[in-house]
Order: sequence, then structure tokens, then C-alpha cells
Amino acid sequence: MNFTDLNLIEPIAKAIQEQGYTNPTPIQEKSIPEITKGRDFLGCAQTGTGKTAAFAIPILQNLTQNKFPNRHIKALILTPTRELAIQIEENIKAYGKYLPLKHLVIFGGVKQGNQETALKKGVDILVATPGRLLDFISQGIISLKNLEIFVLDEADRMLDMGFVHDVKRIIKLLPQKRQTLFFSATMPAEIQKLADSILNNPVKVEVTPVSSTADTIKQSVYFVDKENKLNLLTHILKNDISDSVLVFSRTKHGADKIARKLQKDQITTEAIHGNKSQNARQNALNNFKSGKTRVLVATDIAARGIDIDELKYVINFELSDVSETYVHRIGRTGRAGAEGTSISFVDGLDLLNLKNTEKLIGKKIPVIKDHPFHTDDLVAQKRDSNNKPMAANGERPTSSRPNNSRPNNNKNKPDGVSSNVGFKKPKNKNFTRKK
Ligand code: AMP
Repeated sequence: MNFTDLNLIEPIAKAIQEQGYTNPTPIQEKSIPEITKGRDFLGCAQTGTGKTAAFAIPILQNLTQNKFPNRHIKALILTPTRELAIQIEENIKAYGKYLPLKHLVIFGGVKQGNQETALKKGVDILVATPGRLLDFISQGIISLKNLEIFVLDEADRMLDMGFVHDVKRIIKLLPQKRQTLFFSATMPAEIQKLADSILNNPVKVEVTPVSSTADTIKQSVYFVDKENKLNLLTHILKNDISDSVLVFSRTKHGADKIARKLQKDQITTEAIHGNKSQNARQNALNNFKSGKTRVLVATDIAARGIDIDELKYVINFELSDVSETYVHRIGRTGRAGAEGTSISFVDGLDLLNLKNTEKLIGKKIPVIKDHPFHTDDLVAQKRDSNNKPMAANGERPTSSRPNNSRPNNNKNKPDGVSSNVGFKKPKNKNFTRKK
């Protein structure tokens, strides 16, 4: 199918052509005709499938064809992270460049003044994160009473990040009569329930389930002791890869540590995570996109929405406890059919996560042994909430807690997680990977 088969109005067709898109992606093929007809839509799709354009294009088309006498918010796109929100608004700007519609993105972590001024001038399409949106609503700056289209983006991530109550509060403020578009990479029971409660006879489309990784991504695993991971990273960046690399770190503290080490090794690097200001994050992202910095180290939350068409390499410094995260991470490369490479560092603490990840994606990831830090002697260890190995009895060794002081419980927690992370104990404590 070609975009010309989709009956798009001329200004949108022209803007899309300028983006270099010729064929709609599978989700767009289905969403564009149905959403322009006014149907509710349930898309089970991860980033990288073209899901943003799948809702942005028909929204632009619908709002342009409807008459709008005054500027009020007619479409709301709710998304969990600031990066994702910015990315979505950039897409709307690109596809809507020949249309008179006004769009705005709002998110927390920055002063509200500029956003407030822009809102008061009138906005047709609003992209928002839940917290800032509720702030503006409670101050009487935003009203959603004339809303026509509501998009809930990355619903599963909203749940993971603890935003689901905010989302439900916002939904209660929307007019009953509206078009609702719902997107989620996975459909856990709670998300399914939410979808059922807000969608009206939706068209359902599922593309590339989260458990599958694109065949264009070459995946590999490096077995390495925890203390050698930083040196292995420098080794790879100096000897094997000359391109830009996105490195994933489990924690904010870990991301900073990796960035410091690489900078010391003369590799231009910046880190982004939840403790950095929005401006710092955006600058780091721009520097990475422009090639000014070669390596960007990111936590999962900060990396959400990073959309770099030509990214060839992703390195997982640790594997996440949530196997689906692996699919999201490596999906940053190999986008739109391009080739990509993903490398995962695995120490004893990652072994169980590797096993779960391989189970999820349904394939074994080949081990690369040809490097100076390879080890065949990894033993699976349980991770405590501070990312440290637990002793055999499941307790944290007291000797590692000087003077019985309380551990700093936040330092090594995954970005965005404020309480202890549950971790399943391996059934077989001595599990080692079969060679
Ligand atoms: P998304 O899944 O929305 O994060 O989009 C992933 C990437 O695919 C973005 O870089 C888009 O610009 C790009 N993209 C979206 N739709 C198309 C299309 N029909 N053809 C080519 N690239 C596309």
C-alpha cells in the first residue's frame, strides 16, 4: 500500500512525502482509514512500528475537516514521559506543517510560565504528561470540556511508572462523547480492563508483539565479571565500534558512573536520567543526535521516546529485571528496517534475566567470547534492591553495611522506582548457563 491510497488531504500528503515516507507501516495502514472514519482504536504496538504517525496523521486529518470556530483543545495525547511527549509533538509539527492547527507540548520538571502563556493563546492539539496536565487543570488553565479526540499512549508504561491513577482522574474529566485511541506495547490485565472501560467498540490492531525482536538487529551477549564491565565497555568503544552508541544503565547512579569513566577514557559521553533537568536531558539528546557526543548513557525511563533513525548500536550495561524492557531497549536500533546491533553485558547478577529474556524472545542470544574480559565461570546470583549480590541465605551481608548504617536505598534503584524492586529467586541457586 502507498500513502496515496489513503485519501489524505493534500497538505498532509505533502508533509509526509517531505518526511520521506512512501508506504504506511502495517499499523498505519489499518489505523488511518479507521480513525478518519471516527472509530475508536486499540493498538497493541511498541515504539518503532510507526505508531505515532498512526494516530497523529488521522487526528490532523479529522481536525482539519471538522469546522472549528474557536481555539480550544480538541485533541489530547497523554503520554508517560517528557521525551516521548516532545517526540510526539515534533511529529505532529512535521506532519501538520501545512495546516493551520496549533499544537503544544506540556510536561513537568520545568517552570510552567512558557507553557501557560502558550496555552492561553489557544491550542488545538495538546500533548501532555499526566502530572503537569492535572496541575494546569486544577489551576483552571486547561479545560477539556470541548475535547473531541483522546489518545492514551504507552498505557502499559503509565502503569509501570505509577501514573495509572492520574490517568483515571484525567479520563473522568473528559466529555463522554469523544473518539478514544488507546496504544500499549503490552496488554496486562489491568490495562485491558482500562481499555475496555474507555473504548467504544474499537478497531483492534496488534503489530509486532513485544516479545519479538526485529530480525534486522544482530544480538549478542558478552559474559563478563561485574568489576570488568566498565573496562569492557571502553575496550569495545575503542576497538570494535566507531559509531555512536546508546548505553542502557539500570540506575541513575550507574549511568553517571559509566559516563564519568568513558569521559576519563576520552570518549565523548553524556548521561540522561530522571535526576537531570529537562533542559540537560534535551541538550544531551540533541548533542547525541548531532554527533557531538558519541555515547549517550540512559536509564530506561529517560530513554523512552528516544528516536534516532540512524542509531546502529545499543549496549545493555546490565539486563533489566523486566524482560520486555530488553525488547524496548534494542528496538532503539534497527528501526524502519535498518540494520542494528545490540550487545548485552552479562555478569552473575544478569544471568537469570538473560534466561528470562531469551524465553520471552524465543531465541538464544549468541555469546561473543573474543574479548579480553570473557569469563566462563559466571554463577547466577540474586540481586538485592541495591543492585548488590545477596548472600546465600538471601540476606544482605552485614559486613557490606558499615557501622550498621542504613543503606542508601535510592542510589542503585532503577530510575523511576522508589520502593524495593521484587526479584524472583532462581529456582536452582546454582544455575549457570549451559555452554
Ligand atoms: P514510532 O513507532 O512512532 O516511534 O516511529 C518510529 C520511526 O519510524 C520514526 O522515526 C518515524 O519517523 C518513522 N516512521 C513512521 N512512519 C513511517 C513510514 N510510514 N515510513 C517510514 N518511516 C516511518
